Amino acid sequence: MEFRDLKKQYEVLQPQIDAAIQQVCRSAHFISGVQVEELEHALAEYTGVKHCITCANGTDALTLALMALNIGRGDAVFVPDFTFFASGETAAYEGAVPVFVDVEEDTFNMSPDSLEKAVRKVREEGKLVPRAIVAVDLFGQPADYLRLRSIAKEYGLLVIEDGAQGFGGRIGAKSACSFGDISTTSFFPAKPLGCYGDGGAVFTDNDEWAELMRSYRIHGKGQNKYDNVYIGINSRLDTIQAAVLNVKLEAFRKYELEAVNHAAERYTKELKDIVRVPYIKDGYYSSWAQYSILLKNEKERNGLQIYLKENGIPTMIYYPKPMSRQTAFEGMDCVKTELLVTEELCKRILALPLHPYMTAQEQDKVIDSLKRFLM
Ligand SMILES: *Cc1c(COP(=O)(O)O)cnc(C)c1O
Repeated sequence: MEFRDLKKQYEVLQPQIDAAIQQVCRSAHFISGVQVEELEHALAEYTGVKHCITCANGTDALTLALMALNIGRGDAVFVPDFTFFASGETAAYEGAVPVFVDVEEDTFNMSPDSLEKAVRKVREEGKLVPRAIVAVDLFGQPADYLRLRSIAKEYGLLVIEDGAQGFGGRIGAKSACSFGDISTTSFFPAKPLGCYGDGGAVFTDNDEWAELMRSYRIHGKGQNKYDNVYIGINSRLDTIQAAVLNVKLEAFRKYELEAVNHAAERYTKELKDIVRVPYIKDGYYSSWAQYSILLKNEKERNGLQIYLKENGIPTMIYYPKPMSRQTAFEGMDCVKTELLVTEELCKRILALPLHPYMTAQEQDKVIDSLKRFLM
């Protein structure tokens, strides 16, 4: 059994994907081919955002957003403690100080209450300027943007949506990657919409920021590549990756997103009485980057993981360590807040295999094994 079956997906999409890759090889426009622009238009349309700018990966997407918003030295950037390292790494890389915020116990997303406390604390200490929130759509469910945005407004903060795991999610009719002043995503192969290598994108309705990010991603170009008006980076999406994504986006919107939701619902129905299943807020729609359950304690979680492994079922722990406890941040003068929920989640969480091509038989095997271990 695969944790996320990319081989099966390729089997299904092989004729179109092979043809799309061959077309790029024949045209030999490996960088900035027409497929890139085609994809950007399709992604902008899908998310309902004015500008989509692709780039080399989801980490660079966050960097481009921070650069466009001019965030750096002396600034505080509020980041959930329970997320992938890149969410906070990029702010630190730009010279800002990440301030870690605790998450909600049920959705695992940034806690608005904890955010407000952290913002107040930074203000009281007076050493850093509170500038932006990096809200993460963890495991596919959008963060609580209604409340986060109202706090942002009150304290004059910008909102960056880290939608690396959130592409395809929704709140009501509004799509993920449209909730930030600038939003970002990743096309890392295992993300909800993945390519065949690294890839990413930024989204914004703001013309000025869009123009800046278009420039920054190609060495701060002006009129052309050899006219350089800013210090930028080299972060383009390869044409081959764009060609693959054009095919995959079709499958994603036609049936994959629905299929993965169907499979997630099936897990929830079968498991809700024996274990803590993921909680999706009313009116929210998840793209199910992960299906993560909560066990009673670390001992039970670790025991279950070993048991499932012995039964040929792969699982993952996202995340084993709060970001605030990463060695890389040890020397940083971060503002300390209470991060008790994250601490607890790291001990009790376990992600089960889930993807749009998972069969009912495969799911039954996972469900039966869980029942055997826990009941
Ligand atoms: C994967 C991920 C990223 C980084 O994306 P890459 O394409 O791997 O650089 C950033 N934030 C979150 C929450 C992620 O899950």
